[in-house]
Amino acid sequence: MKVTIDLTLCQGYANCVDAAPAVFDLGDNGLAVLLVEEPGPEHEGAVREAARLCPVRAIEIAE
Ligand code: SF4
Repeated sequence: MKVTIDLTLCQGYANCVDAAPAVFDLGDNGLAVLLVEEPGPEHEGAVREAARLCPVRAIEIAE
C-alpha cells in the first residue's frame, strides 16, 4: 500500500501517530510526517485505522 498525507489539510491532531506510530510521526512544525511511504502488510490495519481516525481526512491510501 502507498500512503500520502495532504499537508494542506493536516491540522496536527496526531490521531494517526496514536494509531500507527511506526508509520506516522509529528514534525517540528506540528504536522504529520510519513515515516514509511509504502508500509508492508504488517502495518495495513494500523494505517487504515489512522486514515479512518484523521478528523480532516488528510491520509490517502492507494493499493
Ligand atoms: S490525524 Fe490527520 S490531521 Fe492529525 S496529524 Fe495525522 S494526518 Fe494530520
